[in-house]
Amino acid sequence: MKVFRPQQLIRPDLQAHIYSNALLENVCNLKSLCKPKTKFCAVVKANAYGHGIAEVVNILKNNVDFFAVASIYEAILVAEITKNVPILIFEPLNASQPPDQVVICAKNNFHCAISSLEAADYISKILAPTSRILNLHVNVETGMGRCGIEPKLAADLITKIKNNENTKLAGVFTHFSTADEHNLEYTNRQLKIFTDFLEKNDLTNRDDIIIHSANSAATIKLPDSHFDMVRCGISMYGYYSRPMKNPPVTLTPVMKLQAPVVQLKQIPANSPVSYGKTYITKRQTTAALIPLGYADGYWRCFSNSAKMKIADRFAPVIGRVSMDQLLIDVTDIPKIEVGQMATIIDNDLNSPCGAYALADLADTICYEILTCLHAHVNRIVH
Ligand SMILES: *Cc1c(COP(=O)(O)O)cnc(C)c1O
Repeated sequence: MKVFRPQQLIRPDLQAHIYSNALLENVCNLKSLCKPKTKFCAVVKANAYGHGIAEVVNILKNNVDFFAVASIYEAILVAEITKNVPILIFEPLNASQPPDQVVICAKNNFHCAISSLEAADYISKILAPTSRILNLHVNVETGMGRCGIEPKLAADLITKIKNNENTKLAGVFTHFSTADEHNLEYTNRQLKIFTDFLEKNDLTNRDDIIIHSANSAATIKLPDSHFDMVRCGISMYGYYSRPMKNPPVTLTPVMKLQAPVVQLKQIPANSPVSYGKTYITKRQTTAALIPLGYADGYWRCFSNSAKMKIADRFAPVIGRVSMDQLLIDVTDIPKIEVGQMATIIDNDLNSPCGAYALADLADTICYEILTCLHAHVNRIVH
């Protein structure tokens, strides 16, 4: 199965600086919240939350116990980089996947999430003529309401997996829907359903099965949810799932996105700027053109609202963000030159152009701001 495009365009001028030290320190700090035996699963789906999956896997491959991805396609990519770290695929294995994908998963020792009895039958049918064994993690529905299997059926699924020669029960897990919220009542209820399930099915304290439930928020706030492994995404990249006062762990953003000023333009007072004339200059204005727009993942709703950092000052975006260009107002900032770099996403949680601030402007969460960053942005590892 061919899933890569080697000729993919890269834009050297759009620079996402990836600081390995910050990434490794975040992982280390998160691990320090867990028991020494707890495995650390680094979630690298969605191009490692926009940070560059190959880059992030390379930095982490000797420091984590597992990688987790959304799809088999990402798993294949990770497996090209490291053969030593097991890879967990979150998408439940299912009959829409061609048989060769099931074989690829088994051959590569991928760990696959599963949440239906039909999928288990499908897998055994495909693998029966082979001597291959597929590692499966049963996703138990405890209140997330997405793709888990109801506890009653989960017990049957586990039996099916155990009774089949070609499948191995490698893990049992669940996922929280509100662990990022201040009130953990619902998360605790989910946790209770999960622990009851584990106890009822004799799944606790087993060396051969990995029990896991914690995402970043639960890893940070709910030690009882750690079990045998934590699955951290956003926190590894330096963000709390939502801005947090007095967090129990220090995190530092791993990425800083920059692009150069490519033109300086004097615009007279009372002149329209960019598409739709949504901004009219109030004074003689010095505008700097940045070669970035919504096609690169810089949202159009940042028009007339976001700021960029340049020469240690903050310059507002004026007029509409277009597909691949925008203007910032640098009238009040002395000595701006063509070629000078503007910081678009700052590696500082409190920055007016940090991912939290941008998420607020876009009425979304920092996850979406980060993952929207286009793959053609040049990831530069430090
Ligand atoms: C994405 C994902 C995670 C990671 O969530 P974060 O909030 O980024 O830590 C963990 N588990 C599952 C099942 C996921 O889909």
